[in-house]
Amino acid sequence: MSEFSSIISFHEALYAGRTSCTVQVRYYLDRIAQLKHLNAFLEVYEEEALEKAQQLDARLKNGEQLGVLAGVVIGIKDVICYKGHNVSAASHILEGFKSLFSATAVERLLAADAIIIGNLNCDEFAMGSTNENSAFGPTLNALDNSRVPGGSSGGSAVAIQADLCQISLGSDTGGSVRQPADFCGVIGLKPTYGRISRYGLIAYASSFDQIGIFGRDIGDVAAVLQIMAGPDEFDSTASQREVPNYLTHLGTSADNKTYKFAYLRDAQYHDGLDKEMREGFIDFFEKLQDQGHMVSGKSFEYLDHIVPAYYVLTTAEASSNLSRYDGVKFGHRTEEKNLDLTAFYKKNRSEGFGKEVKRRILLGTFVLSAGYYDAYYTKAQQVRRLVTEKLNEILEENDAILMPTVPTTAFKLGEKTDDQIAMYLADIYTVLANLAGVPAISVPLCRHSNGMPYGVQIITRKFSEESLLQIANRLMAKEQVIVV
Ligand code: GLN
Repeated sequence: MSEFSSIISFHEALYAGRTSCTVQVRYYLDRIAQLKHLNAFLEVYEEEALEKAQQLDARLKNGEQLGVLAGVVIGIKDVICYKGHNVSAASHILEGFKSLFSATAVERLLAADAIIIGNLNCDEFAMGSTNENSAFGPTLNALDNSRVPGGSSGGSAVAIQADLCQISLGSDTGGSVRQPADFCGVIGLKPTYGRISRYGLIAYASSFDQIGIFGRDIGDVAAVLQIMAGPDEFDSTASQREVPNYLTHLGTSADNKTYKFAYLRDAQYHDGLDKEMREGFIDFFEKLQDQGHMVSGKSFEYLDHIVPAYYVLTTAEASSNLSRYDGVKFGHRTEEKNLDLTAFYKKNRSEGFGKEVKRRILLGTFVLSAGYYDAYYTKAQQVRRLVTEKLNEILEENDAILMPTVPTTAFKLGEKTDDQIAMYLADIYTVLANLAGVPAISVPLCRHSNGMPYGVQIITRKFSEESLLQIANRLMAKEQVIVV
């Protein structure tokens, strides 16, 4: 592991002259080269990152004041635009396409003097739970190379797990930050829908998508959220709400505030949940009660409806969002000649998109079609509303909901590729926060007897990231934290 476990400890050393941005970038470049077989990075901006580090070191030497993320090395998921750099959503349809502008989140990181070191592998168009849908091959779980890192932000999770950068960005539409964080034993935060601008994030399902943050240290995650959050004139769904100071709300391990936690009985006793994990959660809840917290079980009768509602709504939105990739304005274009326009579009899209993306476009087009719209799309919208109301009701009466992030530990490579339904059902605990738009985080608190880590998911009210992070900090301080 890097000599510095947090941004704060790196900055202490940097400002005391004990290290430099260049040394830090070199460290990560070496790690990335050594662990290339994990296939976490699609591209590494080696020269550029070194140059930026040297400039920062020179500015520091001149006595200039640097930004709050000075020299912090960050990797970004391949669905986030960075001007002049390739962005492909891990799809052949966008292979070779360079971003014409940077995402607002990226602009803000750069303005705070962070260093972007490369872009990270993921499932094609962020659709998947294992990273096996990438057009550029799967990313491997660094703890056990025969297992998947989760998805869709698999590369981003492994980048933190294997210490290839200090912070990484992912996107979370139905769990793509929290689920791989859980599988890899790192922290994964999905903020409230609208907390971070989506400008420059390649859309999968626009009413669900949110940029998320991976890290090892909760303070690092808070610091990066602080920089990226807030209104943006380029995204009307980015909230106008003031951004609180997350770092001052974090608290310390010595705090003894007690919380009112809820768990969902239907989730805790769901058939799909691994037995050992169920026991682990029961022990965990008892331990929390011994520490003075209140923990109570709530019924949540909609649990079995949330995965179908999520897949109807997200595929519907995806079928519309992905209609722009036609091979005419940009993207993959077939070599075949003499096609009429319809055949040309069809060929471009058939050649460019992978199997799972095509499946979702077809499914989304079907649920939106005239004869089936009410039966599927309208119904799923109704489920979304009911689920949101019920979840908000529980959150109004409690400080947070605690639950597993995923019902099992990391799957073996290939284990679920032939059974999409089983793959979709494994999203049961994560899609809830996206349907309701509330913030959620997965923190790596537990280890299974099979050797793999698993996380505790914390969910709080909309725009209450300060209490979400504070609770995460408390739980991580009191529990044995997994370090891979
Ligand atoms: N596994 C979910 C899906 O395949 C999550 C995707 C995401 O959050 N981007 O849709």
